[in-house]
Amino acid sequence: MIDPFGRKISYVRLSVTDRCDFRCVYCMAENMSFLPKPDLLTLEEIDRLATVFIEKGVDKIRITGGEPLVRRDIMDLFRSIGRHLDSGALKELTLTTNGSQLPRFSKDLYAAGVRRINVSLDTLDEKKFARITRWGRLEQVLQGIEAALLAGLKVKINTVALKSINDDELDRMIKWCGDLGMDLTLIETMPMGEIDEDRADRYLPLSTVKDDLAKRWTLEDSSHQTGGPSRYMTIAETGQKLGFITPLSHNFCESCNRVRVTCTGTLYMCLGQQDAADLRTPLRASPDNALISDTIDEAIGRKPKGHDFVIERTGQAPSVPRHMSVTGG
Ligand code: SAM
Ligand code: SF4
Repeated sequence: MIDPFGRKISYVRLSVTDRCDFRCVYCMAENMSFLPKPDLLTLEEIDRLATVFIEKGVDKIRITGGEPLVRRDIMDLFRSIGRHLDSGALKELTLTTNGSQLPRFSKDLYAAGVRRINVSLDTLDEKKFARITRWGRLEQVLQGIEAALLAGLKVKINTVALKSINDDELDRMIKWCGDLGMDLTLIETMPMGEIDEDRADRYLPLSTVKDDLAKRWTLEDSSHQTGGPSRYMTIAETGQKLGFITPLSHNFCESCNRVRVTCTGTLYMCLGQQDAADLRTPLRASPDNALISDTIDEAIGRKPKGHDFVIERTGQAPSVPRHMSVTGG
């Protein structure tokens, strides 16, 4: 799959649910209404879609959400997509998780062929954690991370940089990640979906964060590239990588290799744009995959050149009305 700008699409992020056991302040409102269950793709349908994408040249799949590990029978999906790792058609099957369910699922994930996972964690302070996630318990996530490491999974921590909330904690997070052999990626808040507070109050440009960290840590340029919005440095003192995802202050679209599918089967060609294609209808219309394949080709032919996120002044609507939990992070 090659898009109109010559970019090869080899990476799909599949959201398996819009539900979550947390209510992170930058991601969701406290009272969210979720999709009716019949609108969701079944696990069998998600597996079929994954297979079509793999046949079309996708070699990396990330399962996300909402919280992917709260979807019932989710391990069946990991096992079934995992069969493409055995055949070599798929190079990587991974997920992004809040970590709460890792105590019970880490071993199964490893057995299904998952080797690396991203765990989202914004603070190591119990009170702040409760404030950010509203419903989460830090202890449970720390136990989840421990279980994942013990199971042999490589863990990368994703931290959203939040002004006046965790900006004073980043040194501690870098050290903690270094001690446990985990890479760390810092993310800027993105204007996606209505939430209860004003995002402009929390927006912390990572260029400032990086300059500040460079006063205390030796940040070396790293050649590590993912085709995504992360730019990586190596921290000489810990030997771990430090990534910066800066959708607002930098443009990373030239090398974009990915598309996203929501839990209802809507294909978004860009996280920051509204244009989308419905894959659920062709999926349910015929047992033959030709229809889905054609719909995907047509949609990739419309992949936009890039996004135009802006965090507007107070009171402005978000640039993208859908929440991150709909498209998946
Ligand atoms: N529940 C899982 C988790 O938290 O890792 C997976 C889904 S979550 C939507 C994926 C990532 O998106 C998380 O790292 C989260 O911090 C991030 N995220 C959510 N809303 C965001 C926003 N408005 N701006 C930036 N990152 C956001
Ligand atoms: Fe849930 Fe992840 Fe959104 Fe937090 S960021 S509310 S854990 S989906």
